[in-house]
Amino acid sequence: MIDIKNITKSFGSLQVLKGIDLHIDKGEVVSIVGPSGAGKTTLLQIIGTLDRPDSGQVIVDSIDTSRLSTKKLSDFRNQHLGFVFQFHQLLPEFTAIENIMIPAYIAGTSPRKAKQRAQELLQFMGLADRATHKPNELSGGEKQRVAVARALVNNPAVILADEPSGSLDTKNKEELHQLFFDLRNQFGQTFVIVTHDEGLASITDRTIHLKDGLILPTDSWTSQAAEPSDTDNPVVDPVADVDEIESV
Ligand code: ADP
Ligand code: MG
Repeated sequence: MIDIKNITKSFGSLQVLKGIDLHIDKGEVVSIVGPSGAGKTTLLQIIGTLDRPDSGQVIVDSIDTSRLSTKKLSDFRNQHLGFVFQFHQLLPEFTAIENIMIPAYIAGTSPRKAKQRAQELLQFMGLADRATHKPNELSGGEKQRVAVARALVNNPAVILADEPSGSLDTKNKEELHQLFFDLRNQFGQTFVIVTHDEGLASITDRTIHLKDGLILPTDSWTSQAAEPSDTDNPVVDPVADVDEIESV
């Protein structure tokens, strides 16, 4: 389903990823954890073809994305990948159902089919009665569920989520996490989720620990479980993700 081969990435003199290999099967729910600045977002953006690696390959659905032109890549993302961010990034002028339909329109789906698919997804999310609400008329948890529906509308090979529950309270957080597993159990949906949430990481099928640009071997992190995560010190986080600040 997804094959990441020897990915490297530097920003100037800072080498963020030093050779990442990763294979993810269909229907897997994989979490990526690690200290702030470890390169989690960079890796997710590279898997999502939003950024290109300096070297290495990202293969999704047997397609080697490094061979695609910029124009082909945006079609590829639209048809094969779904994204969920920490902040919902719904378009404020559009209703919940319209936000969900937009990627389907872009993919060339007829308005009737797009609407039907969006309605089914809203139903599944328990949001049928919120279809015509705009984002500012939805709670934080509802907005994230609409964002998940939008990510699902074109039946992506994988949903890539960067701190998807990072801005939610405990109840909404747990509901969102449950939704991921419901989608996996019912539809075989694959997820790669960057998270600080130890509760979520502990229930995923597999946890990838990223540190100093590399994936830590499994036996080395079990002994480091007590290491403080950066959620313990959010105020001193030196890399409060640029993309997250921009979206506030
Ligand atoms: P994480 O998501 O694990 O907190 P990131 O992948 O966001 O880490 O960032 C890893 C490192 O790369 C950080 O030191 C960050 O400052 C740096 N970085 C990320 N994106 C850029 C960029 N576009 N330009 C320069 N440096 C970047
Ligand atoms: Mg990040």
